[in-house]
Amino acid sequence: GEMLISDVVALAARRAPDVPAMHFGDLTWTFEELRAATCRLAHALAELARPGDRIAVLGENGPEHVLAYYGVPLAGMVLLPVNYRLAPGEVVDLLADARPTVLITEAQHLGTARRAAAEVPSISTVVTVDGSHGVALPDLLEGRPEDEPERPDEISAAWLLYTSGTTGRAKGAVLTHRNVVAGVVNAVLSWPRAVEQRPVVLVPWPLCHVAGHNVLVAHLAAETVVLLRRYSTEGFLDAVQRHRVTATTVAPTMLEMLLRHPALDTVDTTSITRIGYGSAPMPVATLRKAMTRFPNAGFRGGFGMTELAGNVLAHGPEEHRAAAGGRPELLASAGRPMLLTAARTVDDDGVECGPDEVGELEVRGDQVFSGYWNRPEATAEAFRDGWFRTGDLARRDAEGRFAIVDRRKDMILTGGENVYSREVEDVLHQHPAVSAAAVVGAPDELWGERVVAVVQPDGHEPPAEQEIREFCAEHLAGYKCPRQVLIVPELPRNAAGKVLKRELQQRVR
Ligand code: ATP
Ligand code: MG
Repeated sequence: GEMLISDVVALAARRAPDVPAMHFGDLTWTFEELRAATCRLAHALAELARPGDRIAVLGENGPEHVLAYYGVPLAGMVLLPVNYRLAPGEVVDLLADARPTVLITEAQHLGTARRAAAEVPSISTVVTVDGSHGVALPDLLEGRPEDEPERPDEISAAWLLYTSGTTGRAKGAVLTHRNVVAGVVNAVLSWPRAVEQRPVVLVPWPLCHVAGHNVLVAHLAAETVVLLRRYSTEGFLDAVQRHRVTATTVAPTMLEMLLRHPALDTVDTTSITRIGYGSAPMPVATLRKAMTRFPNAGFRGGFGMTELAGNVLAHGPEEHRAAAGGRPELLASAGRPMLLTAARTVDDDGVECGPDEVGELEVRGDQVFSGYWNRPEATAEAFRDGWFRTGDLARRDAEGRFAIVDRRKDMILTGGENVYSREVEDVLHQHPAVSAAAVVGAPDELWGERVVAVVQPDGHEPPAEQEIREFCAEHLAGYKCPRQVLIVPELPRNAAGKVLKRELQQRVR
């Protein structure tokens, strides 16, 4: 039969009703409690909105997000998680684009929510988690039936997730039940679980990001999730200790922050047996440090996108062991297509590339989204011959692994040569005085574009520009070396921790 997003929790509730589905601070919900609340929410929403309507959630992470992940699509409606780090005006613009009927929020975001309710006419009900305004969520759920309502179609829209907005204005990606379920199933299938006594998965991501689907991945395997209200290294380490966390998935920046944190040495992290990473290029230097610091953990990298409801390429523990055992080049790879995915690289004419040639990565499979919300041109541009065009450049090796080389938009064309920003960044990350670095192109009369490195130093004494340039010259061909090095206190990043290169590009112009 058809599998809906809410079946993830329904299945877990059948297998393990009394096992904790999630811990959040001092709160714990069992799988059966979560399943029942999911049905209650779906029944309640049927009185407030119609199938296909958007239900927005604005707030920092909490159990209600997980409830909405499942309950909103079970009602045949579309969950819209709003990034709480956006400025109030940006939230209003996003909601004006998505036109939700219901806005679920919390006391901390009431100012923005009130403004949105006044300016976005589609919003007819404001629900607050704590009852501080409008309808209180507990009251809304009170007395509702706990059985499943009429099931929506699996190809109906379920989640409207906005992309991270790294390369421009964030776009809403419409994901169906089938897309999301395929992403979750694919993730479970392609990362076999070690036999853990009591699996506890720490999900440190903002749940407005596609990586929040790691909650569902854990739930499909009936594993307990630990949620953080928002990411901090202290909160992460505290959760590891308190809950004896066995697995986690992190962004490269989170891992780097963790490895640099002095408290890491005082916390027992031996319970951790699985560490997943992805969402942005992983600096090889960071990965090496992490593998040394967590020798008992199996590492797993993934490449994914909002439009793909999670990861589609993956690189498992055996590849990481092979890398440590004499094939270091494997650390720069994003891995092979996952079980339910087909992937290829093509040239500008759409002709498939051979091994080791750089081309655009294209993907097919059930995870590929149905299109961008309200952006028919962007949707049309995103597909070619039935394949989804990722906008990322990749190189396939003879064994079928793909290395992500750069985003198409980030590649620098200098004096007729292609320079992949990521390659230069990888070298900069190896410099001991560099905490983080981004490489962008600046317009140049002679070269077309010139390579500019923007460096965030580690510690108080910033490295000299000359020293950075010499370091690059040792490791890179001349045309790839930065012609200019800017030292900044901190790189601009978005909620997912990604460097906002378009801001840097504007700055260097
Ligand atoms: P926007 O589309 O709004 O510009 P975004 O592309 O950053 O933002 P996401 O959907 O969160 O939004 O991120 C997907 C992108 O992240 C990919 O297209 C790719 O560029 C990058 N990415 C994800 N995983 C990896 C990885 N393992 N290695 C390198 N890059 C990655
Ligand atoms: Mg994108």
